[in-house]
Amino acid sequence: MKLPRMECPDCGRPIAAGPVAGRVSKGRLWRHDPPGQARTPGGPLVSCGGSLRLVDLPGRNRQLEIAVPTTAGPAAEDRDPALF
Ligand SMILES: [Zn+2]
Repeated sequence: MKLPRMECPDCGRPIAAGPVAGRVSKGRLWRHDPPGQARTPGGPLVSCGGSLRLVDLPGRNRQLEIAVPTTAGPAAEDRDPALF
């Protein structure tokens, strides 16, 4: 599943946002390292302050649209010819 990338409010980088259960219009930013942080093997894992923060997802807060049929009644070929 391709996750939308949202701007982190702390570091400003585009970070993948995963879905939040029960909140369709919200996403949770993936955990990520702070900018400029050198990764030391075996060292402590430091996260950016914006990691795991809730953000608004684009285009997910629309109301569901239900398709309305444009024709009323059965199609002409479905009608009983004896009635016409
Ligand atoms: Zn960040």
